[in-house]
Amino acid sequence: MQRLLMRSPVAVAAFWIGAYIAIALLPLLVLLLHAPPEARNFWIEFSVALGFIGLAMIALQFALTARINRIEASYGVDIILQFHRYISLVAFSLIIIHPLILFVTDPETLQLLNFIEAPWRARFAVVATLALIVLVVTSIWRKSLGIPYEPWRILHGILAVCAVVFGLAHALGVNYYLNLFWKIVLWSAIAVIALWLLIYVRLVKPWFMTKKPYLVEDVIPQRGDVWTLALRPRGHEGMRFQPGQFAWITLDISPFRMREHPFSMSSSGDHPERLEFSIKTLGDFTNTIKDVKPGTKAFLDGPYGVFTTDRYWDAAGFVLIAGGIGITPMMSMLVTACERKDDRPFLLIYANKTWEDVTFREELDTLDENLDLTIVHVLRQPPEDWSGETGYVDKELLERYIPLHRGSRQYFICAAPKMMDQVEAALYDLDVPTTNVHMEHFNLV
Ligand SMILES: Cc1cc2nc3c(=O)[nH]c(=O)nc-3n(C[C@H](O)[C@H](O)[C@H](O)COP(=O)(O)OP(=O)(O)OC[C@H]3O[C@@H](n4cnc5c(N)ncnc54)[C@H](O)[C@@H]3O)c2cc1C
Repeated sequence: MQRLLMRSPVAVAAFWIGAYIAIALLPLLVLLLHAPPEARNFWIEFSVALGFIGLAMIALQFALTARINRIEASYGVDIILQFHRYISLVAFSLIIIHPLILFVTDPETLQLLNFIEAPWRARFAVVATLALIVLVVTSIWRKSLGIPYEPWRILHGILAVCAVVFGLAHALGVNYYLNLFWKIVLWSAIAVIALWLLIYVRLVKPWFMTKKPYLVEDVIPQRGDVWTLALRPRGHEGMRFQPGQFAWITLDISPFRMREHPFSMSSSGDHPERLEFSIKTLGDFTNTIKDVKPGTKAFLDGPYGVFTTDRYWDAAGFVLIAGGIGITPMMSMLVTACERKDDRPFLLIYANKTWEDVTFREELDTLDENLDLTIVHVLRQPPEDWSGETGYVDKELLERYIPLHRGSRQYFICAAPKMMDQVEAALYDLDVPTTNVHMEHFNLV
């Protein structure tokens, strides 16, 4: 079994999906092992079952966001976070439907909503549900509500803990199903694992990061309002990574503060002794990069991600499609391929607003000496004497450059969300197999 898992990424991915379903349904199966103490009608049993599955799924969210390398290596962070988002809506619906069924089938239960007079178990349920509602609303509409990312992230963690703790207190308070020893053991184990994951993410992982610090060596200005931050490991060998992967960076503060930001490495995957991150000035944190002093301490959590040419050693060649700062993972792939003297063809389609904005413009030109690299620049506001491509990366443009044997290449896209969607649709229309298309989203949240 272990050999099979090690050999096939599909088997590994299927294993984790199976594990997820088994854990989500486990409380229900254990509950069914013993008949409930008294017979109740079908709708009550059904409603309780939904509540239990919903609660187990909320507890499992801690595992999805704990950045467990083995799970991330199968899917990539953005797919896991997308799953985390969608599955939270499923869990939320189950938890909301659970009391609604009770209210409809037995209207007297509506009295449980009277917070002053209701028993504690019902109060716990109300608090858990309110925590979940606020959690879902602030996550879906964070940007429209104007909530900055970092306070939101802290609030998100607190609300998630409240939802699980009060949800469990409600289930224990009802004491109908949970009065059997093994059922209590099971729920306590789920609660302890969720708590451990939280401690692991907030304390254990940061503690390991403090053991492997980095120092800022250089801060290099680039075209397009981008600054390259070069880090050198201090007292250790540095982080090995596959070109195209990313890491979470904490600068100048303790990693326990959890003020970290994700950035793709833009340097060669074969040089862990000097890691480079090219960072576009966009907001609170990225605005400060230009002022970072050499010698500043940095901590890295990584590498993460599956957006890498290294996973496709048997591909006949690669098509890289970047928009603006989406060039960083591509740069790492190209520099690494160049150093390794990779003789496969690389096509880079690179969209920018103006010619002056093109990050790594000069560096890219030097790469084709050792690499079979074709670069197609696409400008939205080209200079007057421009004879290259203009406008947007659309189906017609792609058709002119990508090879006729479309399935022979692997395609990597990293750009603004709108461009990524349009390019993905265009590649689909051009019969590029969807399994050959890989995307990295820079806006996870
Ligand atoms: C996998 C990945 C790789 C990335 N690689 C690069 C890169 O190579 N170069 C580059 O310039 N940018 C990269 N980014 C984007 C970069 O992480 C954000 O631009 C940066 O975190 C914004 O922080 P800010 O405080 O300056 O901006 P803000 O104005 O505070 O935030 C702008 C938006 O960035 C996102 N964001 C903010 N803080 C965080 C955080 N701590 N974690 C996650 N998202 C956050 C939120 O969606 C927020 O709305 C990458 C993002 C991801 C997910």
